[in-house]
Amino acid sequence: MPADVKPSTDRKALSAPQKALRKLGLDRAIDLALHLPFRYEDETQLSRLSDARDGDTVQIDATVLSCEISYKPRRQLLVVVDDGSDTCTLRFFSFYPNQQKALAVGNRVRLRGEVRGGFMGRTMVHPSFSVAGAALPNALTPVYATSAGLPQAYLRKAVHGGLVQASRSGAFSDTIPEHALPLSVCHSNAGQRQPWRLEQSLYFLHHPTPDVSLAQLEDRTHPAWQRLKAEELLAQQLSQLQAKRERDLLKAPQLTLRQGGLHEQLLGVLPFGLTRAQHRVGEEIAQDLMRPVPMHRLLQGDVGSGKTVVAALAAALAMDGGFQCALMAPTEILAEQHFRKLIDWLEPLLTPLGKRVAWLTGSQKKKERTEMLALVASGEAALVVGTHAVIQEQVQFQQLALAIIDEQHRFGVAQRLALRAKMHDGEPHMLMMSATPIPRTLAMSYYADLDVSTLDELPPGRTPVVTKLVSDARRDELIERIRHQLSQGRQVYWVCPLIEESEALDLTNATQTHALLSQALNSPGAAPVKVGLLHSRMTPADKKAEMAQFVSGDMGVLVSTTVIEVGVDVPNASLMVIEHAERFGLSQLHQLRGRVGRGAAASACVLMYATGENGRLSETARERLRAMVETSDGFEIARRDLEIRGPGEFLGARQSGAPLLRFADLTQDSALLEWARELAPVMLDQYPELAKRHIERWLGGKSDFLKA
Ligand code: ADP
Ligand code: MG
Repeated sequence: MPADVKPSTDRKALSAPQKALRKLGLDRAIDLALHLPFRYEDETQLSRLSDARDGDTVQIDATVLSCEISYKPRRQLLVVVDDGSDTCTLRFFSFYPNQQKALAVGNRVRLRGEVRGGFMGRTMVHPSFSVAGAALPNALTPVYATSAGLPQAYLRKAVHGGLVQASRSGAFSDTIPEHALPLSVCHSNAGQRQPWRLEQSLYFLHHPTPDVSLAQLEDRTHPAWQRLKAEELLAQQLSQLQAKRERDLLKAPQLTLRQGGLHEQLLGVLPFGLTRAQHRVGEEIAQDLMRPVPMHRLLQGDVGSGKTVVAALAAALAMDGGFQCALMAPTEILAEQHFRKLIDWLEPLLTPLGKRVAWLTGSQKKKERTEMLALVASGEAALVVGTHAVIQEQVQFQQLALAIIDEQHRFGVAQRLALRAKMHDGEPHMLMMSATPIPRTLAMSYYADLDVSTLDELPPGRTPVVTKLVSDARRDELIERIRHQLSQGRQVYWVCPLIEESEALDLTNATQTHALLSQALNSPGAAPVKVGLLHSRMTPADKKAEMAQFVSGDMGVLVSTTVIEVGVDVPNASLMVIEHAERFGLSQLHQLRGRVGRGAAASACVLMYATGENGRLSETARERLRAMVETSDGFEIARRDLEIRGPGEFLGARQSGAPLLRFADLTQDSALLEWARELAPVMLDQYPELAKRHIERWLGGKSDFLKA
């Protein structure tokens, strides 16, 4: 905890602005000091009314010529002032008697507000005013993000107070060795390179001198801004590198690749050969597992790139050593699907060894669950597949060596930590899988402590999915197209959008679509077509039953809300219709599209969009849809998604718990990111004390999250 004020604990004693401060997370002096302005006002000079153009914000000292209440068209205070160059009428629609007094005829006042020119002369509506003649400030006035009940003036004082207090307590003493600072935080002074110190930068950003280039402040290229960004990025790199080094001191089971073992046997029974990428990644994972320190690896690969096999091979290696493996997936459908596949592949190999695959899920019957728990506890279950149920307290492993998390971004930090804690003696190896490839800058910053393996190749024999944009006015043509696919023995997904904040509406919409398609596709005389429905309100058992029919091929069309989003694998499905595609996020669309094109048949994805009331799509919606048509490369999609949405949403920050970057912007600051990445190991090795202080200052208690 940095050396600064402790928050007051007496809740009742808080005033309204104090409560608002707390709500904004501005509890400690250091938090206030780091609450930087989002813009500035120049109050360092007086202007002349006669120079002001329509819409200009001016500051003038003026004399009140008249002050009266008018009732037309509604009650208002009308004040006419003269600053020596021109006159202006002030209008106040709400005012107190003491304000009226301050604006009495003959008084000199300092006014600040927006001037509207006009036929009737200049006017200002609700300008701010004070007594004229006070000394002008010599720095720009900061404007801070605030909230209801927290006046800007109060916030300014609080921030300044926090800044002074935190500085005095030494909270901003420099922790980065001067010679290691990047060029962009320096300015040159008589040919000498001079870095901006942290404290100096903060004072400057809160109160910049009027000669500064506002452009440099706004685009954050000013050395003071660069200093803050550098500090922040370095903290992120340091804490992750430290977490990684700490992990490297832990012990994990050291596995061996045995000739004729499970790993080799599994390779023998797979109905296909591995792709080169699968080979390479499998090797990377095997190398990790053969070391006595815990693996912490992210396996990223586009939808359909074949991550499951890679996971199964890793599991085989672990099980071969007599250890247990856990595989956790975010939804029951997905877990079920893994389970089925893994059983097919692994159960025949495990049976001769007297081992089994166990299944754990929230919706399980008590009896089955008890049975499964016993299998896990005794070690008879070599592999445990399931949902969040896998990390529940009652689940006791005998010897967990490898934990695999599918769609890792769907899980929170706490859940990853819980899984790691399942090993009594040492740590399990962790393999996290993701179908959302992480753009390079994100991987370098937020995932710096992870080793990353990438499946950059799809299994052969897939025909690329053709993506089409279709206005929803052409629904009938689409139904024709569906008929055609069905007549070829193919299957079709129809995805309905999630209507934000209204699960009920969401449901109605899906139900209606379901009814409509059932009717349209079942004309008398023709062969009946089964149309299924899947939505979030169904019980897991019902979902499972519906899904099973689609998987078996009995069902031609599956109407669904986004529950099918992750990992469902039905190679015979060749057409996906996404209704209201404009409402989906880019990554989500890409994931959905990945459900088709899994077999050899030519597949298509139809993005059906509806324009808003103005008959147009929003700019970002258009950007997303265009990206979908232009590329099917998951990395390219992820990059564009990051551009459109920024890292916060991309990472699902609320879930990850990792503190997000506040000052740095990965799309702009990749040079600083590189700098931080290179400096972090040097700091830890050569300046461990400074490194520690640096992490403490920037992350405080939050750095624990990074260890998950
Ligand atoms: P994802 O990476 O999206 O999880 P899956 O593991 O579900 O992908 O694999 C997608 C499909 O590709 C599955 O049907 C799987 O059996 C198949 N598959 C995986 N690897 C290969 C391969 N090397 N050759 C052919 N098919 C493969
Ligand atoms: Mg998958």
